[in-house]
Order: sequence, then C-alpha cells, then structure tokens
Amino acid sequence: MFLNSIDDLYIVQELDSRYYGFLNLTDPKNNGIKDLIQQSITILQDEVASSHSINMSKQRDLQHANVKCDVAVKYEEHIKENSGIESHACDSKLALPSDFKPKGNIGVGEVDIETYCKLGHLHLLLTEYYEALSAYQKYMRLCPKYWNNHSFLYGLGIVYFEFRCFKWSIKLFQELLYLNPYFVCANEIHLRLGLMLKVNGDFRSALKHFQLALADSSPSTFSDLQVKFQIAHLYEVQNKHKAAKESYEFILNDKNISLDLKADIYRQLGWMYHCVECLGEKKERESKALRFLQKSIEAEPKCGQSLYLLGRCYAGVNKVHDAFLAYRNSVEKSEGNADTWCSIGVLYQQQNQPTDALQAYICAVQLDKDHKSAWTNLGILYESCGQLRDAYACYLNAVKQISNQGPPPPYPHNHGSQTNPTPAKRAKDDNTEMSTINRSEKLEINTQFSQQNKKIFSVQQDKLGLQLTASNCHPLNKMSSSVTPGSDVSSERINTYSSDASSTNIIKEESTDLEQHVSSNNQVSLGRSIIACSQNSSELIEDFNQSYSDNSKNSVKHESSTQSNDDSYIIEQKTKNEYDLDPDISPKFNIHMESKQLWSAVQLLPVHEPPINFTVFLRNSPPPTPPDCPPQKLSREQLLPPTPSVHLENKKNAFSPQLQEFCLKHPIAVVRGLAGALKLDLGLFSTKTLVEANPDHSVEVRTQVNQSPDENWDISQAKRVWACISHRSHTTIAKYAQYQASSFQDSLKDEGDKGSVGSQVMSDSDSKDSVSNSNINLKRKKTKNGSKMLRFGTNVDLSDERKWKPQLSELQKLPAFARVISAANMLSHVGHVILGMNTVQLYMKVPGSRTPGHQENNNFCSININIGPGDCEWFAVPDSYWGGIHNLCEKNNISYLHGSWWPVLEDLYKENIPVYRFIQKPGDLVWVNAGCVHWVQSVGWCNNIAWNVGPLTARQYSLAIERYEWNKLQSFKSIVPMVHLSWNLARNIKVSDVKLFELIKMCLCQSLKNVFHIQEFVKSKGVEIRFNGRGKNEASHYCGQCEVEVFNVLFIREQEKRHVVHCLPCVLKLSPSLQGIVCLEEYRLSELEHVYDSFTLYRTQGLGQTH
Ligand SMILES: [Zn+2]
Repeated sequence: MFLNSIDDLYIVQELDSRYYGFLNLTDPKNNGIKDLIQQSITILQDEVASSHSINMSKQRDLQHANVKCDVAVKYEEHIKENSGIESHACDSKLALPSDFKPKGNIGVGEVDIETYCKLGHLHLLLTEYYEALSAYQKYMRLCPKYWNNHSFLYGLGIVYFEFRCFKWSIKLFQELLYLNPYFVCANEIHLRLGLMLKVNGDFRSALKHFQLALADSSPSTFSDLQVKFQIAHLYEVQNKHKAAKESYEFILNDKNISLDLKADIYRQLGWMYHCVECLGEKKERESKALRFLQKSIEAEPKCGQSLYLLGRCYAGVNKVHDAFLAYRNSVEKSEGNADTWCSIGVLYQQQNQPTDALQAYICAVQLDKDHKSAWTNLGILYESCGQLRDAYACYLNAVKQISNQGPPPPYPHNHGSQTNPTPAKRAKDDNTEMSTINRSEKLEINTQFSQQNKKIFSVQQDKLGLQLTASNCHPLNKMSSSVTPGSDVSSERINTYSSDASSTNIIKEESTDLEQHVSSNNQVSLGRSIIACSQNSSELIEDFNQSYSDNSKNSVKHESSTQSNDDSYIIEQKTKNEYDLDPDISPKFNIHMESKQLWSAVQLLPVHEPPINFTVFLRNSPPPTPPDCPPQKLSREQLLPPTPSVHLENKKNAFSPQLQEFCLKHPIAVVRGLAGALKLDLGLFSTKTLVEANPDHSVEVRTQVNQSPDENWDISQAKRVWACISHRSHTTIAKYAQYQASSFQDSLKDEGDKGSVGSQVMSDSDSKDSVSNSNINLKRKKTKNGSKMLRFGTNVDLSDERKWKPQLSELQKLPAFARVISAANMLSHVGHVILGMNTVQLYMKVPGSRTPGHQENNNFCSININIGPGDCEWFAVPDSYWGGIHNLCEKNNISYLHGSWWPVLEDLYKENIPVYRFIQKPGDLVWVNAGCVHWVQSVGWCNNIAWNVGPLTARQYSLAIERYEWNKLQSFKSIVPMVHLSWNLARNIKVSDVKLFELIKMCLCQSLKNVFHIQEFVKSKGVEIRFNGRGKNEASHYCGQCEVEVFNVLFIREQEKRHVVHCLPCVLKLSPSLQGIVCLEEYRLSELEHVYDSFTLYRTQGLGQTH
C-alpha cells in the first residue's frame, strides 16, 4: 500500500477543506481515494514524528528568544476556550510529545508548517474532527499569517461548526468572506452562518446569509429548497406564523421537493397547527395537525421526532391510547429522546399512574440532565405525594436549567421553546393525585446521577451536540451526509475516538511497511509533495519522481533545506508563503505613486482575475478585530470618572475655540447652559409647537419595559440581562403627543393612588413590527409582576426644510463645530442626505425611555440637546473599551452591532471598564466624541434633538474607516459611504494635517487601484463599460445583495423588473461570465486620476510643516 503514481500525488495535492461535503467517503465507490487519504495522513504523521525526534536534542539548546508569534498568543484564547475538545485531541497520534511547547521558538525544524494544515484538511475529509482540529490549531499557532490561507480558515470554521463552537466558527467564516468574497465555498459558508445566527437569535443577519446562499449559483451540498426551508423556519422561530406557513406551503408545491424535505415541512406545519392559535379554530387545527404529522411520518417513517409530536397531538385531544402508541413507536425509532420520555411521564401522570410516570421522568433526566420540563414534572410528582425535600431538589434543578438556557432551538419540539406548552403546566392543571412513591425508587435517581457525573465527558459532548437540537430530522445533517446527525454525533464520535487506539496500531503497521520502501528522508520530501498544493506542481512531481526512483540517495534539494539553520528556514518559509498566497505583493502600491504609476502597477497584476479584497488597510494586514481593553488596572474611583463638563456664561464662551478643543479632547462632554448662552428658543421643539407645525408627521415607536436606569431585567423579571426588549411600531406626532400628555396626567393621579394606571394608557395591539434581536420571544401581554410598559417616540425626521424651517434656522445659532451643516464637518461633504446623520432627528420621551447601548454610525461624533422639560440620564464608555463591551455582548449571546442591549454596570466594572454617568438638563448639549459607547434613559418627560458631525481630524477619519471595515466583516451596512466621501473630501478640501492627509490618500489609492483592476477584469470578460455619470445629490450606491458600498463601477442586473446594483463578488456569483449584466461607470477614469493626483498635502504659509 503506497501512493502508487503521480496521478495519486496530484489527487492528494488537490485535496483540501473545500472538498468537504462534496466528497462522500462513505460511498464504497470512493474507497480508493479514501485509502489514498489515509496513506497520506500516515506519511505526514510520520514526517512530524521523525523530524520531532531529530530535533528533540537540537531544540533544548536553542534559545527561546526569537520569533515570538503574536498571533499564537492571541489565539491562545481559541485554544483555551476549546480546551475541552483539544485535551482529547491531544491524545491523538498527531499530537507531539508533552514537552512540545507551542509558544515562543518551538523549533519548527524540518517540519513544514503546511504539513499541519494538510493534515487538518485530510482528517476533515475523513470527518475525523478531533484530529482535524488538533492539526489546524497547531498550524494556526505556527503560521504568523494564517489568515492568508483561505482553505485553512474554511476547514477550521467547518470543524468548529461541527463541534457547535459557533462563536469561533462564525468568527472564522466572517474573516474568510471578508478577505475573499470570491471564495469557492462562499455559499456553504453563508448557509452555515445563517444556521448559526438563527440559533443565536440574530434573525436579521441569518436571513441575509440565507439569501446570499440562495443567490449563489455555484455548486453546493444543499438545494435551493433546503435553504428556502431554513428561511421559512426563520419566520417560524420569530413567531411570524402566517409568513412561515405560506413559505412552507410554497415549498411543498415545488415538484422537485425531496421526500426528506417533505417530511420536515409536514412536521413543522403539523406542529404549528397544534400550537399556534392564530391559525384557526381549535378543533380544525387539531385535525390538521394530526393529518400533517401523519403525512410527515408517511414521507419518512423512520423519524422518531414526528412520531413523538403525533403523540403530543393525540394526548392533546385525549386520545390516550393513540398517544401511547405513537410515543412507543417514537422510542423505538429514536430511543435517546428525553422529550418523548417526559411526555410519556405526563401521560402516565394524567392516568393516575405515578410510579410509571416517575420512571418515565427518570428516563428523561437520565437522557438529558438539563431537561427542565422533566425536572419540573418530577418536582410536581414528589410534591403531590408529600416528599417536599425531593420536590425542592427537582425544582432547583429545573431553575438551574432556566438560567443556563442557551440559544433558542431551531425546532419547536425542544423543551425550552415558547410555542411548546410545557407538559408541566398541564400536569399541574390536572391536579393529579399521586400515591406515595417508595424510597427505593427515589434512591435509584441518586445512584443514577452519581454514575452520570462520572461521565462528565460524555455529558459535555452531549451538550455540544444539543445546541443544534438533537433532531434526527435535521436537514443540515442530511446535507453533509458524512456526519451522523443529532445527539448521536457525540456518542458516535466518542466511539471513533476510543477506537483510535486500534486504528493507530494499524497505521503503525502500515508505516513500518512503508519504511521498507522509502528511507525516512524521502518520506519527508514525499510529505512536502503532498502538501504542496499551490506550488509549482510539475517541479514537485519531478522532485517526487527523483526521490521515489532513487530510493537510496537523499534528494539534494530537500537535504539542503532540512539541514539549514532553523531561523533562516523559518524566514524563507514565511516569505515563500506570502508570495504563494498573495500574488498582489509583487507590485507595491503606495500613496506617493501617481495615478499613471498605479495604473501600470495594476497591469502587472493578474487582471483576468477579480481583485481579491478591497480594503482601505494595507495588504497582508489581518482582518479587523475588536481591540483589547487598555491593560491599566483601574481603581473603583477610576471606574466612575467625573464627566468632563463646562458651563457656558455667554455667547462668547460658546464660540471660543477652547470649547471645541475641550470637546475633542474627551470621550464625551456635557456643555451646560448652552441654550441660555445662545438664547436658543427651545420652545420651537416642544411637543406643543411640533403638534401645531406637523401633527401628522410620522413617529417611530419603541415599546419598552419601564425599569430603573441602572437595571435591566429579563421579561420574567427573574434575572439581570443585557438583552433590552424594545419592539417597533409607528404613529404620528399628534398621537404620540396625546400619549405623552396623558402619561404625565396619569402620573399626577398616581401620586395619590399608587395603582398601575400607566400601563393601561397604551395598548400593545397596534404594534405591527416587533423587532427583537434578543432570544426572548415577546409575548403580547402585559408583563407579569405588573411592571409598566412604555412607549418611546424616536427617530422623528426633521430633515425637510419646508416643514421645519423655524426649527432648523434656530440651530444656525450654534457654533460652527456643532452645526448640522458646516464646511468643517465631513458629513456635509457626502453630497446627499443620510437621515439622522447630516439631518436633525427628534426624540419624544416619557420617563424610562431607553436608547440602548451603541456607538454612532461609522464612529462619527454626535450632538444631542435636551429640550426638556425633564432630564435625561447618560452612561458612556471611552471608545478604547469598545472591544470589551463587544465581548460582553458576545458572552450574553447578543449581537453588538445588530442587537439591542443595556449593559449591566457591575459586569463592566468587573471587566475593568470605566463608565461616565451624568444628568443632562434642559438646555444642555452633550458632545459624544468619535467611537464613544453610550446609552441613555429619560428621567422625566422630555424631547431631545440630535445629529452627527465629523470633525476634520485624523482620529475621526481613521475611526470611521476602521468601523467601515469592521462593518464589512460583520455584514452590517455602513450608512456613511466612506469611499465616496473620501473622494469628495479630496475634491472639496485642503488638508494640512499630515496624518489625515495620508489616511485619505491611502483610501483613494486603494480605491483607484481597485477601479483600475475591476475595469481591466471586466474588459477581459469582453463586457463593455458604459459611462453613466452621477446625478446631482444622487445617493451613493450599495450592493443590493450584501449591502457593501459600490463605488464607480456598478454592476446592474434586472431583478423582478427592478434594476439592482451589485458589487463584483455578488454579481460573479449570479453570473460568472457577466452575461446579462450591464456595467456602468459613474466617473470617467481621467476625472478620478485628476482628483487623485491633485490631492496633495496643503502647506499653510508661515507655519513650517515638519513633514
Ligand atoms: Zn455584494
């Protein structure tokens, strides 16, 4: 057994993570290639092992001084967080001996670091995830610029996905798409991102990724219908039942639907009819539910889940016998289902068979010790027969599960789900009488559990498996047929893992066999040949031929590299990697080149391929990532810093340059008495005046829970959380004014009579669009515990000068740096309206109205004036700590950019994050500096006005660009089109600040280079670029698919009779040859070249610039 031919070598060289899911190695037809992969793994492992033993002695002598790898340190976190998995992976054959130190100079020696990557790929293809993980992580530690290796990022992302380590999988996938939107498996990534974000409750992002997966025409491991099914399910988990039902029915009408998918859809529909009241009258719903579930079982008779749900439906209509039958069938099909056992318990309990019920519940909690419903029911059972202590213990377990509850399950049958009426409730309602349960049975539970505890490992694995729901019918698992679905995965994996010992033996035997054929040195070179996917293959084949045919002699080439000094080898290796993976490095681009030189340099690039990644950052820089918090440990006092504030006496103060300097110096500043000093007529923004001016003007409403400012409780008021509930609807100024006034009246009444009248003022019924980025399903009810709901009138658009003339002209009295429009404000150079940023927005508040935590769009500064009569309370964190807050959001399972969150102050202090806290009185202006994280709550009844400004500073510009790139990575739309803006700045202003100049010029340089490259690429495809120009005040363009800014070269495709702009990556996914695409140009190249060349550093006279 050996790599027999050059063909074999070619095949192995080709293989990497991109074949995952496409290459079905369980198919006997592929046995040949499977053997090939296994042999290659053996060769590479032996290479690692032998080189290690050679180096062992060398290593000890080496100083630990050189090549400290920052990335490795950073990614220690990866390793730490996934240590549960890794510790097991360490036992595998691949792992190096225990004295192997990953940090510092680890004496990579003769092992090419690419070996680890290749091993990762090959193990991945064999679905040996532990081994793949171990190899990939080793590669990541050793390779300083691992992010340039895209198939590596993809492979590790897949492994994390399979282990349900969603946080890391999402991170890697996002980085990969950011670095290479053309990646061949982009559609596979979008689908998986969609699934993970759905589980995380970030539904908007999930939908976006599903749609991007659908729009991609390249080959995939899933069908369009499967993606559509996921989208329909996305509606379902958001309680958009009618939309979900319609989408499911639409898929059912498709002729090409597979039997599996049919079964899935019938099951979802059946269960929806069972649970969802708005789908019709109860009796009719129940019969539809039964019919659909039966259809589901017909389509897929082996699905235990549908049988289980059928049992639930029968139980619901009191067909006890049928219910038992269905449950029994379900247990036969999938014995490991805790839900089924729990429901059987309920049924027994209802039939007055407590002993049987007890046993069933015990089965449930044995299968899933986190099963909340089973614990609750067990508690009820004990309680009803007077065993209070036992009952208490069970309830305690149940409560523990509430607080541990992870993300919502993708399927409704899961026990934590809202749509699922818990059996516990029904059991309680029935008030079943229980006979006493004897001690021995109870003891059984205890012993069972101590046994369970011994198997912590397996429980941990179960947890991993459970997060994506242990459903045997999960469509995703079907997509990658090689993976055993659901909770079985974990046990299966454990088996594979434990059987490793024997397989290692086999490998050993094979390798000794192999050694008889090839000397160890030749093995090394063979290993190199295997991993050399991107290198010049003919040369390698020659190498291989030579070493293979000439067994007794060492290949000269490789000998020299193996015996060279370690350090030089590493350097050599590094440069080689950079060159291989980054063809763009050869011609250098910099801001000192003229446009003609840029153009010539672009001609040297492979212009028949699209430009890989347009970023304002330099090439080869790592993908953006949130910064670590400043390390300096803060005292309790420093964690509560005094807020920078200044009191204005008169107009002169307001216009002094010191005021602007003061504001620009601090993360946030409050300018007190501004309205008085400038004699601003705040009355123009009072509710009364607004109603008189434009009563029918639209107001967006956020419905929120009234809470004290430093607290944020979950919907059940059980614990403090970050997720802030706020759902959206619309009304008019007049109607909101009425609400605001009556809320005030009611509070006066309340003074005497402490009732909860306030909550009756508003009804929730008119809220149409409930937006919740949290995992909590909103109930259309008043909250328990009588907590008040309130309505916050937000984002009232005051941009229309005809409608709001007196108001807007009053704001002209402000000093220039704070004005909505001014030459020194970057946002005035965008050339078109960005609502709420370069126009005024108004907020109408009742006490408790919350603006959740955020940074301003693209990190611009903001101005906020309180109109009064009441106060507002502000919380703010300096921008350098945003990474810390980002991590806390992640920990709380809420999206930093998309989610709505209210920080728990103690969490911030624990993380050494300081918080400014202050009151904004009527007439006070708050200056929010670039990047400052802040959240605001009104103390009294008041209105506020706000807008953004962009001072012409290097700090503002670089923070805006940084956020622009971070948004791109996060698939979050940047509403400030930074590229378009930069070109306008170059046209309109003279820059004397060196740093600011260089930053803007860098953006222009990258942008121009990109335009050149795209145009050459388009021409190489034989497509004509038509000049289109730009209309006056025409908005800048964004891709209709992925929402990234599209500058100058627009790809237009007709979609449902609309002309939609696309970016190049998206359009290539729709039409790889650009057929049927119109390509338009906004500016002539000559114009851009002129702007670029004329934009030079402005040297102010008299002041000698140092640069
Ligand atoms: Zn796009």
